[in-house]
Amino acid sequence: MGAAQGSCEAAWLTPSFSRWTLRGMFDVVVVGGGVVGCAVARRFTLQGARVLLLEKAADILSGASKGNSAILHTGFDAPADSLELACIQAGHAEYLAIREQLGLPLRASGAIVAAWSAEQAQALPRIVAAAHANGVADAREITSAEILHREPGLSPAVLGGVLVPGEALIDPWSAPLAYLLQALENGAEVRRQTELYSGTFSGIWNLQTSTGAVQAKTLINCAGLYGDVVEERLLGATHFTIRPRKGQFVVFDKAAAKHLGTILLPVPEAHTKGIVLTPTIFGNLLVGPTAEDQEDRARAATDEGSLRMLVARAEAMLPALRGMPVTAAYAGIRPATEEKHYRVRHEPAQNYIALGGIRSTGLTAALGLAAHAWALHNGTQSLIRAPIPAPIAFPIWPQAPRLAEHDTRDWQAPDHGEIICHCEMVTRREIEAALAGPLPARDAGGLKRRTRAGMGRCQGFYCHASLAALTAGRFA
Ligand SMILES: Cc1cc2nc3c(=O)[nH]c(=O)nc-3n(C[C@H](O)[C@H](O)[C@H](O)COP(=O)(O)OP(=O)(O)OC[C@H]3O[C@@H](n4cnc5c(N)ncnc54)[C@H](O)[C@@H]3O)c2cc1C
Repeated sequence: MGAAQGSCEAAWLTPSFSRWTLRGMFDVVVVGGGVVGCAVARRFTLQGARVLLLEKAADILSGASKGNSAILHTGFDAPADSLELACIQAGHAEYLAIREQLGLPLRASGAIVAAWSAEQAQALPRIVAAAHANGVADAREITSAEILHREPGLSPAVLGGVLVPGEALIDPWSAPLAYLLQALENGAEVRRQTELYSGTFSGIWNLQTSTGAVQAKTLINCAGLYGDVVEERLLGATHFTIRPRKGQFVVFDKAAAKHLGTILLPVPEAHTKGIVLTPTIFGNLLVGPTAEDQEDRARAATDEGSLRMLVARAEAMLPALRGMPVTAAYAGIRPATEEKHYRVRHEPAQNYIALGGIRSTGLTAALGLAAHAWALHNGTQSLIRAPIPAPIAFPIWPQAPRLAEHDTRDWQAPDHGEIICHCEMVTRREIEAALAGPLPARDAGGLKRRTRAGMGRCQGFYCHASLAALTAGRFA
């Protein structure tokens, strides 16, 4: 904790709060270590708050943030004048501003919204007009000839499109990891395998968790797929209901990536953003996601029929994919709700903020949502209850793992030990780094997200034994 924070805590010390109480008291408890919670923990820590993040899983990014399309959106197709649009654009801008200091990658691929039918082609001028109204001034219609000039591998059946140059690709796991690492390096705490069970507010929050009691002045609910459950546990009722929406993906072999350089978006549908064909920052080609409503909040199973449909859609758009091997399939679950918009709730009388229902743009919007939560908190904080000290003047900037295909990787540097995962060229030094530091990987998924070990062509078949030896006794 910075010196400024300590002195400010002393400034609001009243006889009713002993120093003993203060040591166990946090300015802010963030519930949930998805991308939104990680960004919120960072923002409030940098503003000078004493922050604790609770995550019920063994490792962070175990919920909705585990599987997404990894696109940094511009908001060109977001609902006009919405909080979602504002957070997407603020989040996108902040990502660009901080990414080099955190060592985070960006592939400025741009996107094309492609029309494959006369009906879709008719929608293109409307998409451009909406993009311009949303402030995405460089979005423009392009002809099929221009599309095929940019992307010669695409099917000539494409009728035209909208070019959105600002859409980009990022690493969906290193980014939130870096946000939380920065919070930790600057004084925050994280408790994993710690589920919030209940809480009561009486001037401060008294919280019961699976690892003991916690006190906090402010509580921020970032529980994603369980946001409504957490709200009910804390307030006795919830203002939204999570309706989990699964999205399945197929990952093509790295050899496929040379056939497409731009994100290929469909003409948007009412229900979802539709099926995307996109390169990834890791050098793969990805097609998906589906949009399937389900009851289960945790089970992200794939099924053969959907995967075949995705492969067929991808091959129809990009014929060179025919016969191309598939490396992997996975599914993510969106924390959708009964309404389309973000379900943000602020209860100033209880120092409670919920960032709920962040269904399909949260990777981009997380930094913007964190700034929004800070503004909500800051606008209403009472001098008695929840003052936050001055921002940290010289924050520490930790470095995220560098895993982007177009960056220099660790295996290209000397003294990396040996290569453990040959498909993804992951070194022993990278594995050891992921198992050390302030937020070591706590399960196999966490290690994969920090290093990509086991995520390649053989899906861990060859490196499994080496990984088991390196991680023996390390996982929860
Ligand atoms: C298929 C798909 C594609 C997507 N594509 C994109 C994209 O290209 N670009 C983009 O910007 N966004 C995209 N998104 C959206 C983005 O992934 C989500 O908006 C984001 O991950 C939501 O994060 P979250 O932090 O709100 O929730 P989560 O990631 O679910 O995090 C919530 C965390 O809270 C924890 N938790 C729950 N209850 C408790 C409790 N009681 N105590 C302690 N911890 C608890 C959970 O374990 C979980 O880790 C996509 C999403 C999906 C599913």
